[in-house]
Amino acid sequence: MAKGHKACSQCGADNGARALSCGSCHQPFDIGAANEVFFFPITGNNIITPAGKCPVPWKGDLVAWVEAVRDTAPNDHFTDAALRYWLRTVVPANEFTNLATELSPLQTSML
Ligand SMILES: [Zn+2]
Repeated sequence: MAKGHKACSQCGADNGARALSCGSCHQPFDIGAANEVFFFPITGNNIITPAGKCPVPWKGDLVAWVEAVRDTAPNDHFTDAALRYWLRTVVPANEFTNLATELSPLQTSML
């Protein structure tokens, strides 16, 4: 058998190393890590640089905006820097500085 290939436990057919199921009898292969007992998706990350466009539009209320942003990733924590990054993209420039200084005490009060 070629290096890296695996034999099907059902029919013995030779399959490529990355095959998810047997090409001959369609028996699914054990795909490894995701099936391990202690495998679980990692949550509880600190989000420092949020990905993409802010998912929550600005409606003039900082508390409501922060709550709505936090609700988009309830298992993770948006750092103040992450909130500032998105806040900068949704509020008028002349309001940003004052609002940004309120983020840290606001987040602390929401713990
Ligand atoms: Zn097979």
